[in-house]
Amino acid sequence: MPHDPQAPDAVLARIDAMLPAALDRLMDLLRIPSISTDPAFKADCDRAADWLVADLQSLGFDAAKRPTPGHPMVVAHGDGPADASGPHLLFYGHYDVQPVDPLSLWDRDPFDPALENTPKGQVIRARGASDDKGQLMTFLEALRAWKAETGQLPCKLTIFLEGEEESGSPSLIPFLQDNAAELQADIALICDTGLFQDTAPAIVTMLRGLLGEEITLHAANKDLHSGMFGGLAANPIRALTRILANLHDDQGRVTLPGFYDGVSELPDAIRAQWQNLAFDHAAFLGDVGLSVPAGELDRTPLEMLWSRPTAEVNGIWGGYTGDGFKTVLPAEAHAKVSFRLVGTQDPHAIRAAFRTWVQAQLPADCSATFTEHGASPAGLMQITHPAFEAARAALGDEWGRAAAYVGCGGSIPIAGYFKTYLGMDAMLLGFARDDDQIHSPNEKYDVECFHKGIRSWARLLARLA
Ligand SMILES: [Zn+2]
Repeated sequence: MPHDPQAPDAVLARIDAMLPAALDRLMDLLRIPSISTDPAFKADCDRAADWLVADLQSLGFDAAKRPTPGHPMVVAHGDGPADASGPHLLFYGHYDVQPVDPLSLWDRDPFDPALENTPKGQVIRARGASDDKGQLMTFLEALRAWKAETGQLPCKLTIFLEGEEESGSPSLIPFLQDNAAELQADIALICDTGLFQDTAPAIVTMLRGLLGEEITLHAANKDLHSGMFGGLAANPIRALTRILANLHDDQGRVTLPGFYDGVSELPDAIRAQWQNLAFDHAAFLGDVGLSVPAGELDRTPLEMLWSRPTAEVNGIWGGYTGDGFKTVLPAEAHAKVSFRLVGTQDPHAIRAAFRTWVQAQLPADCSATFTEHGASPAGLMQITHPAFEAARAALGDEWGRAAAYVGCGGSIPIAGYFKTYLGMDAMLLGFARDDDQIHSPNEKYDVECFHKGIRSWARLLARLA
């Protein structure tokens, strides 16, 4: 039992019956203020790790708190049935939470969780309810129901829970390097993402990379008066804005030579899934007071967000910007420029191309200096791994609408780290909603998401085990 992927019915029924107890357990974990960035909560982070170790042990895992220079990791190993043929899965989540400030904007104590009825349904309100305690508990509750029903875990499992995700993960890479052999599995499951537009189950398979550059254009050896020098002397702001204006053509394409190397066209199957999502770009832009997609003219709004690279000027300054007026010809002009990267675009090659491209356009008497601000390539998941189609089917069964492989504009570095340091592919799926207010006051998790999240994992495990 239950190797029929369509019918882990007994497990699903048990999940339904156990929901009140599962909510109680989650609220227990939410009562521990495991704020990782604030040293005042160090003992609480430790306590959250202990709580999870005990819970995993109760599920039959060999679980332990593992020290790091910062907050501990929780690592647990469990075996499935002796004749198990399924993959060895690693599950990742994080038990630390963001600070709660400003406390005055909370309607209740952030660490005194409660169920609350809202017009959109019942929610659990507390810091960490969604990010990431509620999400990580969906997986543990699925395992609990499975074990209760069948007497064992569904397959070979490693659980890996971090306590520093909300404070920059300073111990993560060394820990992965030091424990690479122990953490080896066939695929990593990461539960820290959301549904698409609150309703469609989604598996994140594309994460855009990021490259940052700061340019300073130098002209005269000091600021000049435009009455004395204007017309004769070079103005670096004029030179800089002219160069930056050349970064895009009339079609919205980036003009940097070689910029689109490594950018591939969307596969037809993914294009069809995205069409099926019926993204309401008018509402999406309308929320922030905009109306017209501003990317490449021949691309759909979702392509612009997820599968196409961008170039953006994030800041530009120089000369006199204070109150009143000063007719200065500045000696310097500055800009910060970033690129969101996709596919196999090489951030280092693009940085070099950008500098060469700027240098080539400098007028007489102007020179440029550059400062780098980070370079990370895009993350692209290997959706050929059978776990991906299994997850799409399982999520579709549970949520009653097709699941899609989606992109993500923000960065989730853990997936890339699993690939780089463990050589392991990762699958990102989660059940958060856009209005969960993660990192903000009054964070919540919909009880429906928690419940269906648990059921989704059970369905996926049934397909994989
Ligand atoms: Zn998170």
